[in-house]
Amino acid sequence: MTRFKAVAKVKRFSCEDLAELTPLYLDDALDTPAREGFDHHLAECLTCAGHVTGLRVTVDTLGDLPAGPAETLSERTRGRLLSAFRASRHP
Ligand SMILES: [Zn+2]
Repeated sequence: MTRFKAVAKVKRFSCEDLAELTPLYLDDALDTPAREGFDHHLAECLTCAGHVTGLRVTVDTLGDLPAGPAETLSERTRGRLLSAFRASRHP
């Protein structure tokens, strides 16, 4: 994750970057330029905004979810995240 630490100005993240950084964002572990870039992307990208909102709700619900990369999540946890994600996007 250190490659995101040396950014001097607001960075434009791709959707893949957002997915990678979401656990850090939810854990309030991003530095300011990364966080601003993250927020900027969320303002422009409804897909990622919905994704992050869904994950935030899920993290709040689960409480004990480890703040690690998505790859470390068990299949069961991933399924619960996906369910919450879909529910959060339902009108
Ligand atoms: Zn996006």
